[in-house]
Amino acid sequence: MTQGKKETKKITETKGNAQYTKKSLLIKQVIGIFYKEGLKTIAELCEITNNSVPSLTSIMAELSEKGLVKNFGIGASKGGRKPTLYGLNPEAGYVVGIELSRKYTRVGLFNLHNEPIATISETLEGLNTNNNIFQGLKKQCDTLLKDNHIEESKVLGYGITIPGLIDIRKGISYSYPQFEDKPIKEKFAEIFDKPVFIEHDTKAMAVGESWFGLAKNKSNVLFINIGSGIGIGIIINGELYHGNSGFCGEFGHIPMNPDGELCYCGKIGCLETIASGTALVKKSQERISKGKNTIITRNVNNNIDKIKLKTIIDAAQSGDLFAIELLEEAGEYLAKGISILIHLFNPETIIIGGEMADAGNLITDPIQQKLNKYTMLRLKQDTSLKLSELKEKAGLMGTLPMVVHNVFELNQENGSLLI
Ligand SMILES: [Zn+2]
Repeated sequence: MTQGKKETKKITETKGNAQYTKKSLLIKQVIGIFYKEGLKTIAELCEITNNSVPSLTSIMAELSEKGLVKNFGIGASKGGRKPTLYGLNPEAGYVVGIELSRKYTRVGLFNLHNEPIATISETLEGLNTNNNIFQGLKKQCDTLLKDNHIEESKVLGYGITIPGLIDIRKGISYSYPQFEDKPIKEKFAEIFDKPVFIEHDTKAMAVGESWFGLAKNKSNVLFINIGSGIGIGIIINGELYHGNSGFCGEFGHIPMNPDGELCYCGKIGCLETIASGTALVKKSQERISKGKNTIITRNVNNNIDKIKLKTIIDAAQSGDLFAIELLEEAGEYLAKGISILIHLFNPETIIIGGEMADAGNLITDPIQQKLNKYTMLRLKQDTSLKLSELKEKAGLMGTLPMVVHNVFELNQENGSLLI
């Protein structure tokens, strides 16, 4: 994304204009169209790119020869001979998507049609549980490639999502000392032989939703990631917004209660101290200790240290009043925060994702209800609130266009999301 954009710019500067011949631009455009829209006939490509049949026929032959494009058989006829369909060869290259989380690491392997070619590999090694995740991560990726008989030479790049504060201008993480104040990419370049692209976790989820989920073909969307923390990914006019230095979207740290609890960020009463998964777990533990009756106690065998957000959601879904009320309480504060977002951004859609999305209507109903209370009617009517359908896949899927766009140096001229 941003690092990639910088990289692209550098290449342009060093190689001069030679690489941007009319033909090379058309090739990029065609790759972008195939990647975003799937199979096309030469006639369709001529229409979209405003180029001639001989130019496109020659490019199809050249890209087919290289193995990047494939003939997918015969399409529907619009009268006359049935045309041949072309598209990217799904096996021409692979993307490894990596979600580095605080407590786990998930790795997915995808082909050029954005299809997963293996079950997502997950380890319980994360940025907070291991001070040196690099060698373990390398092993996890190598195993996934080996198990699926893919050589690293076929990998186009690695797309990595990371939580916390990332300065996109310097590429530096301010949340995890294991990157040693070096640009994050440099640390990964030491272990991988292919290009590495980094994005903040919630922003990558927003990109995933924008390409493959409920935000597809929508221009102004907010994605709210509610898990142990709370963050937002902002899509404005079809583009991912990073803010001045990449720190935008820290929704969880807006002040909500001046008399509230100390947040780990150093401020008092942040939304995260009231409505995040971490906050709900803490509240449930405190209230159970004071004698509240709930099936959660039985579900964790009386060991309240074992309570997780999932424990609370499961209990609520089985009808436990205590758990339902905890979610309602979170919903009220989330609605206060979301109403601020609606008034500021006037989004078409707000997508709730992250682990909290598993609560379904038990979290969206209280939010909707309180939005009626806190949001101007006209603005609220224009915004739909939805639960992510990509769920835990959103972040990994978001890495795919990031890698493909950067590797092929595609740009907005293709009608694709500029990221
Ligand atoms: Zn805070």
